[in-house]
Amino acid sequence: MDKILVTRPSIPDIGEYMEEVADIFDSRWLTNMGAKHQELQRRLQEYLEASHIELFTNGHMALELTLQAMRFEDNAEVITTPFTFASTTHAIVRNRLKPVFCDIREDSYTIDETKIEQLITPKTRAILPVHVYGNICNVEAIERIAQRYGLKVIYDAAHAFGIVYKGKSVASFGDVSCFSFHATKVFNTIEGGAAVYKDESLGPKLYFLKNFGIANAEEIPEIGANAKMNEFCAAMGLCNLRHLQDEIDKRRIVFERYLNRLSGIEGIILPKIQEDAVSNYAYFPVLFLQEILGLGRDDIFSRLEEADIYARKYFFPLTSEYACYANMFSAADTPAAYRISRQILTLPIYAGLELEQVDRICDVILQNT
Ligand SMILES: *Cc1c(COP(=O)(O)O)cnc(C)c1O
Repeated sequence: MDKILVTRPSIPDIGEYMEEVADIFDSRWLTNMGAKHQELQRRLQEYLEASHIELFTNGHMALELTLQAMRFEDNAEVITTPFTFASTTHAIVRNRLKPVFCDIREDSYTIDETKIEQLITPKTRAILPVHVYGNICNVEAIERIAQRYGLKVIYDAAHAFGIVYKGKSVASFGDVSCFSFHATKVFNTIEGGAAVYKDESLGPKLYFLKNFGIANAEEIPEIGANAKMNEFCAAMGLCNLRHLQDEIDKRRIVFERYLNRLSGIEGIILPKIQEDAVSNYAYFPVLFLQEILGLGRDDIFSRLEEADIYARKYFFPLTSEYACYANMFSAADTPAAYRISRQILTLPIYAGLELEQVDRICDVILQNT
């Protein structure tokens, strides 16, 4: 039987892409904010209802350079969660800032907003929560805390592209929301990312930082990196954006099939669509409770693997457990995140995953629970 991988990138018809890139062959403008970059930026600004937006070569650089643009002092503290992809924590540490890990909620796996305040110290400058799996954080509570203590809020919205929450684009929350357009995300530009921001004064900083800090040939006001999105990636984004709704609709069908097949089993906790949210169906995270099932997450992972089905232990380990952060943090400080990282498995989901394949995956799970 064929292998089933956890995800498969969305791509347009090859003809559509060739037509889009033909302009680039004519102009020979391959990178450095050319016509495709400008057009994609415009379209995303509109789609995300963004006051301001800057494109990047990937989501990580959007996060890292956003933090740099905010110019916090060395060792300033940023409250975040360890239940995320490496990028979130690395972006903080690479800016010589200190991540302070807050625990997560059991229902949505997002930051537990009731535990943020007790972590605030005189050195706290920002909160960096993650809309993990596309579950939207308690944005109202986070906003209130940020206002009270004068903190910036930067959302890692890498999983949340396209989500509408309480009638608003997900990009409308916080000071900045950073998106990833990596091949594995709901919307991809092969590699890519964006920062949506409210404070106009961040604009030139972000723009200069992604191009070596260069303002013009003789003026270099920032210590920048190289994080520009190239024209071929922007062209892929223009194509994929046209088909986005269709891709999300197809994901929804897969998501609902899983819910149908797996609901009502004691010991299996399925993802919930949040009230007031229009989901993007980016992930299908499931908790397997060993104390009820007998088998644990790792057992289910192996049984699936034996059937050529490749789920992912996403997120395991916690970022606070990484070897590169040895002796710096304690996973015991975030007990819910620790436990969930041992119970969770994200099942394959992508547009074009056949319902028979979903059934094959569910059959393996049902045989073992
Ligand atoms: C994918 C991802 C990123 C990084 O995005 P890239 O485009 O791969 O650099 C950051 N945070 C989270 C939670 C992600 O899933």
